[in-house]
Amino acid sequence: MNQNWHGTLIRHMLLLVTGCLLVGLISGYYGWSLAIGLGLYLGWTLKQLLRLHEWLRQHKPDEAPPDGYGLWGEVFDSIYHLQRRDQRVRGRLQAVIDRVQESTAALKDAVIMLDSDGNLEWWNRAAETLLGLKTPQDSGQPVTNLVRHPRFKEYFEQDNYEEALEIPSPTNDRVRIQLYLTRYGNNEHLMLVRDVTRIHQLEQMRKDFVANVSHELRTPLTVICGYLETLLDNVEEVNPRWSRALQQMQQQGSRMQTLLNDLLLLAKLEATDYPSDNHPVAVQSLLQTIKNDAQALSGERGQHITLEADPSVLLKGSEGELRSAFSNLVFNAVKYTQDKGTIRIRWWADQQGAHLSIQDSGIGIDSKHLPRLTERFYRVDSSRNSNTGGTGLGLAIVKHVLLRHRARLEISSVLGHGSTFTCHFAPTQVTRSLEIATKE
Ligand code: ADP
Repeated sequence: MNQNWHGTLIRHMLLLVTGCLLVGLISGYYGWSLAIGLGLYLGWTLKQLLRLHEWLRQHKPDEAPPDGYGLWGEVFDSIYHLQRRDQRVRGRLQAVIDRVQESTAALKDAVIMLDSDGNLEWWNRAAETLLGLKTPQDSGQPVTNLVRHPRFKEYFEQDNYEEALEIPSPTNDRVRIQLYLTRYGNNEHLMLVRDVTRIHQLEQMRKDFVANVSHELRTPLTVICGYLETLLDNVEEVNPRWSRALQQMQQQGSRMQTLLNDLLLLAKLEATDYPSDNHPVAVQSLLQTIKNDAQALSGERGQHITLEADPSVLLKGSEGELRSAFSNLVFNAVKYTQDKGTIRIRWWADQQGAHLSIQDSGIGIDSKHLPRLTERFYRVDSSRNSNTGGTGLGLAIVKHVLLRHRARLEISSVLGHGSTFTCHFAPTQVTRSLEIATKE
C-alpha cells in the first residue's frame, strides 16, 4: 500500500525505454521501436481507464473491482475501499434517521417539518389524525392550504412565534389543538401540535362557572342594594344606631356590584377571540371624555391631567371595550397618584402602529410585581385596594381587551416615582381619518 509509486513508475518507464532501445539495436529501427513501445503502453493505460469507467458505471453494491496490475490495481482497490467506507457511514446514518423517525412516529403529538416557503416536507402519524394530512399526496403542499383557520394563516405569517396558537382541529371541531412553530436551519419551520381538548374543556368549565355565579348573584344583590337605598333615603325613620351600618352595607354592596360587573365583562371578553364590531373608533374624542371623567374623579385632589392626542389616528375595534380598557388605565393613574400629582395621556401613531401611553407621577410599583400585575385579583399591596375601592380586575380587563385588538401592554414603573402604562397597537388595527374620508 505504502509503496513509492513515483519511483516505481519511473523505473517502469526506464525499463520500457531500455526494452525499446534494445529492440531498436537488434532491428536497427530505433525510432519505430520506441514509438511502438510507447504506443502499446498508452493503449494499455487507456484500456485500464476504460475498465475503471465501466466498473464505476455498472458495478453492483458489493461487486469487487476488476483486477489490475501495478498502479492501476492500487487505484481500483482504493476506490473500492472508499466506496465501502461511504456505504458503512451511510448505513449508520440511515439507522439513526430510522430510529428518530420511529420514535417521532410513536409520539402522540404531531411533528411537522416545513421548508422555508411553508411547504410540507415530513410529518409523523399523529399529524395525520390531528391535522388530517394525507401521505404522500400532501407532501410539498403549502401548510396554509391544509390548515385553513384564518388565525393560523395570520400566526404563520407573523414573525413572532413566542406564544402558542390554539384553534379547533381541521378534522374535528370538537378537538382543540395547540400549535407551536419554531424556525431552524435555513429558515425552515418545525411545527408541533398538541391535543389540548381536555385542558380547554376544564378552562371552559371554569369560565362558565364564574360567569354563571356572577350572573346568578346579580339579581339578589340588586334587590339588597335597592332596599338599602330606600332605607338610607328614609334614614330619619331608621334607628340612628343602624344608620352607619346601613351606609357601610350600601358601600360594600355597590363594591360587590362593580366586582360582578367586572367579572361578567371578563367572561364576555373571554368568550370570543375578536370583538364583533370592527369600526374605526375616534380615539382622541374617546380619550377626551375619559380625561373629563378622570378630572371629575380627581375632584379636590387637584391632579394635573393633560391629553396630547393625534385626532387623525383611528383604531379599528369595539368602542365600548376600548373605553373600558382606557378608562381603567386612566382611573388607576388617578387612584394611585398623590394629590397635585401629574398624569399625562398621549396617543400617537408611527411605523410600528399606534400607541397610547398613560404616565403618572404616582406611587409607582416595585419591579417584582410587574410580570403578575395583569393577573386577576393580583394585589401589589392589599391595604391599597381597600382605600381605592378597586376590584383587582381592572388590568386583567385591559389585557383581554388589548389581546382582542392585537395589541400588547407594556408597563414600566419606578417605586415612589410613578408608572407608565403603554398600549401598542399593530399597524393593521390603525386607520387615518383621511383614508376614511377618501373611501367614503
Ligand atoms: P385595582 O382595581 O386594584 O386597581 P387593577 O387590576 O386595576 O386593580 O390593578 C392591579 C394593581 O396594580 C393595583 O392594585 C395597584 O396596586 C397596581 N396599579 C395599577 N395601576 C397603577 C398605577 N398607575 N400606579 C401604581 N400602581 C398601580
